[in-house]
Amino acid sequence: MKYQTYTSLRTFNSFGIEAAAERYAPVHSVSELQTLLREEDESPLRILGGGSNVLITGDLSGRLLHIRIPGRQVETRNADTVIVSAGAGENWHEFVLWCLSQDFGGLENLSLIPGSAGAAPIQNIGAYGVELADVFDHLEAVDLHTGATLRMDRAECAFGYRDSFFKKEGAGRYCITKVFFRLSTANHRLHLDYGAIRETLAAMKVVTPGIRDLSRAVIHIRSSKLPDPARIGNAGSFFKNPEIETAELNRLKQLLPLLVAYPAGEDRHKIPAAQLIEACGWKGYRQGDAGCYEKQALVLVNYGHAAGSEILALAQQIARSVWERYGVRIVPEVNVW
Ligand SMILES: Cc1cc2nc3c(=O)[nH]c(=O)nc-3n(C[C@H](O)[C@H](O)[C@H](O)COP(=O)(O)OP(=O)(O)OC[C@H]3O[C@@H](n4cnc5c(N)ncnc54)[C@H](O)[C@@H]3O)c2cc1C
Repeated sequence: MKYQTYTSLRTFNSFGIEAAAERYAPVHSVSELQTLLREEDESPLRILGGGSNVLITGDLSGRLLHIRIPGRQVETRNADTVIVSAGAGENWHEFVLWCLSQDFGGLENLSLIPGSAGAAPIQNIGAYGVELADVFDHLEAVDLHTGATLRMDRAECAFGYRDSFFKKEGAGRYCITKVFFRLSTANHRLHLDYGAIRETLAAMKVVTPGIRDLSRAVIHIRSSKLPDPARIGNAGSFFKNPEIETAELNRLKQLLPLLVAYPAGEDRHKIPAAQLIEACGWKGYRQGDAGCYEKQALVLVNYGHAAGSEILALAQQIARSVWERYGVRIVPEVNVW
């Protein structure tokens, strides 16, 4: 296995940022990965999936392993559940569609999220009231220091809101190679009470929705709200939604009476970062080719040739203004490299 040198990453990240990897290798199997890890090499090592949750702010020194491990499989089945697996390199949305085509339920609300199956546990992807953790069974990974394979269950992954063990103690230590999900084969539990799902199903004239109808509704809503990275570079939500205490919420409501809040545990509330950003006047703002998307303030975009450092500078300006005006810290969901 050989590394390619100074490989352009423009087509490998959804922001469409031009940057180079000093040494780049696509990885198609666990054994290829282990072979690369056996080489004596102390240079920095990064793992890339679909590149839809990274902001690359300059050329990358050291090694970049692009995980392309394929495979989808039904592992075990019983009366009303099934365990299915996805190789880390599988495209997430195609995997969701594959599950739906077999009438396996649980992933429909996560339709059309870009990226790879292997990255999905990293930030515990979530959308429309469902998170990966809700259907996750276990995963297989390789320890990047020793090359050993290991299995991790849900408790070990320590999932939280856009968070997991892999963003904390486990950061930079493992490559996820395969992910296993527990899905329903009958009596599917539908999550319809989030965003505009019910209205969209009604507009689609669906009276008794099934999992495929729900997926179609989610795809419809997402396509109308979010910029398609193939046309306008972006990484989805740039910032996480902040969680605050009740006293803090009451203080903010004085400043922003229409502030929306969702329960997030005892005395905790999640508030939309987009609302704070919009109230600071950033929605639709453009600075060179870096911008804050006109239809959704949480999404930062590259209109063409923005450098990653320009997008980062804009993100920092936005976060500072939200802090100065509302005293709330908003932090990136996107991984800044
Ligand atoms: C238009 C758009 C909409 C989006 N909507 C949502 C949404 O609704 N909900 C949501 O949660 N996210 C959303 N995202 C973010 C993104 O799609 C997810 O975070 C996705 O899981 C990233 O997958 P990826 O393969 O592209 O990861 P990458 O961007 O390649 O990597 C992200 C991080 O994971 C690490 N990583 C990648 N693969 C592996 C692996 N196999 N093992 C170990 N580490 C790995 C990388 O090192 C990096 O730190 C959106 C993005 C876009 C562009």
